[in-house]
Amino acid sequence: MRNRANTLLQDLPTGSDEDVQHFLVGSAQLAQIGTDWQLWHRRGQALQSSQAPPLQQALAPLLLDLEALHRLDIRAAHEYRQALETQQELAAILNTDTALKTQQIAKAVEREATQAHHYGIWLLLLLGLFTALTLLAFQRYLLRPILLCNAALEGLNREQYTVLPPPTLFHELDTISRSVRQYSDLTRQLQQANRELLQLSQRDGMTGLANRRYFDSVLLDEYARACRHGHNLCLIMLDVDHFKRINDTYGHLFGDDCLRRLAGVLAQYSRRAGDLAARYGGEEFALILPEMPLNEAWQVAEQIRQQTQALQLYSEQGERVALTISAGVASLPESGARDIEQLIEQADQALYKAKHSGRNRVEMASAAAPDLSRTAQTLTHN
Ligand code: GH3
Ligand code: MG
Ligand code: MG
Repeated sequence: MRNRANTLLQDLPTGSDEDVQHFLVGSAQLAQIGTDWQLWHRRGQALQSSQAPPLQQALAPLLLDLEALHRLDIRAAHEYRQALETQQELAAILNTDTALKTQQIAKAVEREATQAHHYGIWLLLLLGLFTALTLLAFQRYLLRPILLCNAALEGLNREQYTVLPPPTLFHELDTISRSVRQYSDLTRQLQQANRELLQLSQRDGMTGLANRRYFDSVLLDEYARACRHGHNLCLIMLDVDHFKRINDTYGHLFGDDCLRRLAGVLAQYSRRAGDLAARYGGEEFALILPEMPLNEAWQVAEQIRQQTQALQLYSEQGERVALTISAGVASLPESGARDIEQLIEQADQALYKAKHSGRNRVEMASAAAPDLSRTAQTLTHN
């Protein structure tokens, strides 16, 4: 097209019509840029009708070309529209498809996420269950047996016997548990033996009363307690009257029986906590009575005296044997005693006094002793 226009331009005589020049230049530009073919076609036709026949002939193919171009343009425009429509349709399809796909993907992702969430929860639950079971097993088969063994060992010192663990899954733990059980049994036996030994070491073998050693230690404790709390501490010393004679007459074994019977009487009068009846030595006995006024202690001694006198003792020959005692009662601080030695000495002196006053009587170790003769009479009548 451009070449033709150039040829036409070259063939045109100079100074030709301005419109033709202009049309040709425009046609040449059209060939390059491509634009409104109709307009230029109309202009070409106008030129052709207005120009001389030779120019008309020269323009004819150009017009044909323009027409062809014009048709091409229409077709191109038509194709272009169609292409646009197709593109839009495609785009619509594509959009719908993409949306669908996106939705599907989103759903799939959501499904996967939910599944993953569920898996996560199950995993956590399983983990929790596993941990709980592990802890339970640990507590039951490891911790509890160890704690029980420990409690059993600790309890042994306090003489408390706890339940030992049953057999467990662990051999080593079972061995420890068995050792603890054996140790516990041994300790129990040992503690029992110790108790019995202590009992024996504190008791007088023949009478079953406290022995002299234990008497001394209890008297010390009670003296300390009396000083601390400021209360009375009474002591009764008793001695069997003419015991040598009894022994000599009825034999030593009978004498022993007499002492045992007397011990039984004394035991009845050591009922309160802190009271203690003891064999002081030979046929001599003592009774510790804390927190008791002197006159009450005297009454106790008097009751013992009367009860001893009333004992039914028979010799092998069936002869009734009279057993009597003499007693001295002292009190800290009522009878003036200030310490244990003085207390024992005062009680002893009172006993000596009772012996020298005719035996089978009770004397009180006090310079200012109250007149208890009436009380004695009352008790005798009882
Ligand atoms: P008194 O009234 O002055 O106390 O006279 P008594 O004979 O009781 O006193 P004495 O001290 O002369 O005698 C005590 C006797 O007690 C001498 C001893 O053989 C006896 N005796 C000491 N212990 C026992 C014992 O365990 N069993 C026996 N059967 N006799 C004992
Ligand atoms: Mg005697
Ligand atoms: Mg004596």
